[in-house]
Amino acid sequence: MAQQELDLAQFRRRLEEMRASTQDEIDGLQIANENQDTSYGVKNHPAEDATEVFDRERSLAIRAALERELEQMDRALERIEAGTYGVCEVGGEPIPAERLEARPAATLCIQHQRERDEFARDVPDPWV
Ligand SMILES: [Zn+2]
Repeated sequence: MAQQELDLAQFRRRLEEMRASTQDEIDGLQIANENQDTSYGVKNHPAEDATEVFDRERSLAIRAALERELEQMDRALERIEAGTYGVCEVGGEPIPAERLEARPAATLCIQHQRERDEFARDVPDPWV
C-alpha cells in the first residue's frame, strides 16, 4: 500500500495535547456535576432544583460529546501505533493530509465520513 508521507510525531503530539485538554474539560464538568454531594448539603427549593436538573443534563450531554471525541482521538492514536494512521477505516484509501491537519482525529476520508453522517441522519425525525 502506497503510504503518504505524514509527520506522525507531529500528529501524535497534537492528538495528545487535544486529548489532555479534552480530558481537562471532562474533569471540570465532573466537578460541576458532583459538587452537590459535598459542598451543597442543604437542599435548594424546587425552582432551583429544576435549573439544577437542566444544568446537570446539559453537562452530561456535553460530557458524552467530549467522551466521544476522546474515543476518536484514542482511535487515531492507536492507528499511529499500528501504522494505519491517515488511512480511511472504511475504504482503506489515504486521507488527504490537509484533512488530517484540520482534524487530526479523523479516521475516515471525507467521502466515507459524509456517508456515515447521512446514514446517521436516516433516523426518522419525530415530527415527520
Ligand atoms: Zn474512505
